[in-house]
Amino acid sequence: MTALKALGGTSDLLPDEAERWQHLEATARSLFRLYGFREVRTPILEEAQLFLQSLGAQAEIVTKQMVLFKDRGDREIALRPEGTASAVRAFIEKGLDTTGGLTRWYYLGPMFRAERPQAGRRRQFHQIGVELFGSPAPYQDAEVIQLLRALLLKFGIDRFRLNLNSLGCRSDRKGMLELVRGSFTPVQEQLCPECKERFTRNPLRILDCKEPECASRRHPVDLSKAVCAGCRDHFETVLQALEGAGLKRDVDYSLDPSLVRGLDYYTKTAFEVIHPDLGGAQNALGGGGRYDDLVESLGGVSTPAVGFAVGMERVFMVLDKSRSQGTDETARGPEVFVAALGEASLREGIRLLTQLRQSGISGVTDYEGRSLRRQLEQANRLGCRLVLMLGDQEQAKGVVTLKEMSTGEQMEVPLESCVAELKKRLQNQKGSDPFW
Ligand code: AMP
Repeated sequence: MTALKALGGTSDLLPDEAERWQHLEATARSLFRLYGFREVRTPILEEAQLFLQSLGAQAEIVTKQMVLFKDRGDREIALRPEGTASAVRAFIEKGLDTTGGLTRWYYLGPMFRAERPQAGRRRQFHQIGVELFGSPAPYQDAEVIQLLRALLLKFGIDRFRLNLNSLGCRSDRKGMLELVRGSFTPVQEQLCPECKERFTRNPLRILDCKEPECASRRHPVDLSKAVCAGCRDHFETVLQALEGAGLKRDVDYSLDPSLVRGLDYYTKTAFEVIHPDLGGAQNALGGGGRYDDLVESLGGVSTPAVGFAVGMERVFMVLDKSRSQGTDETARGPEVFVAALGEASLREGIRLLTQLRQSGISGVTDYEGRSLRRQLEQANRLGCRLVLMLGDQEQAKGVVTLKEMSTGEQMEVPLESCVAELKKRLQNQKGSDPFW
């Protein structure tokens, strides 16, 4: 029989790793709350049409990377390749585009793209993102950019580079495409095969080519030449707002006049965060921008919006590079192991375990009647901080023997004060633990 395996480009997260994810997710949630963002959860499946209409029929995510299948009603279904289109669909479907006011949403969850798997490029990956609907104000762009910076810093990531640009509005787009085509016409033949195709289909994407051999790499194009006065003013105010928030140009962020994003829906401000530890073609940690036309183009009432998304796998790639070897403080098994010896002690141990759990202390025991040595080994392997040992002697005295695993210290504790003693000890440890 062939061994069953996870599909290429997808991975399992075993508990140690899953708990590191939970930790970052909790960090993100509490930061988003500070900025007034609330969670939205949309389905992983959507009609493929949603992405075709929102990302643009020419976007590579749509032409090459969508994971598609037909349902039994012969409808074309896609596994969502990104979060914004679904958020916009939900926003319109629930009529929020007609109520006015601001909507601040965040999401986290899996996304799917049928890409050739490699480091930093998965078929199932995870994004954390925010979407802010209802404000055209450049100050909101700046706030969202600040939030992205704050998020990465909270995750413990530094040395990232935040690049900003303005892509202008829809009326600027035609001129922008001409500008790009004009710039690449003289070197059209030296473009990589993919960019040759992009030249007619989707020229802006030439600027985002990752092929080292492609002539596009040697041809930065200053897109600001095609941006109208209104959009330039908008961008200037974004930069002033960043300055006001203490972010310094060329230190905390840089301007990149040839920055484009992979998706068609961006207007005005666009930004991207790259990190040197990611290297190669997959060096983006996240990105985002304004998408003032998307709600309307999906059938809603015209609503300006701005947002970003960060790739979690890449966040962990960066953290793993800078993490010192050794145990991970955020990974934790149960706090207490109850090591009972003999049937009568086991019954008492089970009672104790129930009390512990009712008091919010996590614990496990061994029902297999293993020796004390074996049980201590198990406790060690699970990373339990405390072991409660219970045998005939303890039963006779009405006590348990408590062992601190880190120091080996042992002491007898009366059964009735056992829970209080454990609470006290675990509380003290939590106080000095960076996780809490
Ligand atoms: P995008 O929507 O393409 O701008 O993606 C936003 C972020 O999601 C990127 O900067 C990456 O961190 C992450 N990302 C996108 N595609 C993948 C992928 N195939 N595998 C892993 N991470 C990805």
